Amino acid sequence: MSNFEPIVASIVQLNMKNLLFIFSFLILACESQPNVDSDDFKSNIIHDLMEDIKGPICPKNHKDSIVPIVYGYPSEELFAKSDSGLVVLGGCELGEENYFCKIHKISF
Ligand SMILES: [Zn+2]
Repeated sequence: MSNFEPIVASIVQLNMKNLLFIFSFLILACESQPNVDSDDFKSNIIHDLMEDIKGPICPKNHKDSIVPIVYGYPSEELFAKSDSGLVVLGGCELGEENYFCKIHKISF
């Protein structure tokens, strides 16, 4: 039975190497992310929460005629909604803005 031990050991080593590879890959992936200022991050979360509670508010301070901006390739349903002015299509590139004010023609 002791003949198997080296094989087992090498399998464990191989797995450890794989794990190390995966870990270093993950670390590299994390480090390549842009640094997020934690305060900025927090205030963004609070801002989003407020929007969820109160609904979107135009920078010019009104809540009517505001539609969500939808990113990504739109479905037929979304095309229809966009035609009737219920949403604005933001294109495939994900943008910073989540809403569009139809009165002031601005996204925010
Ligand atoms: Zn507005």
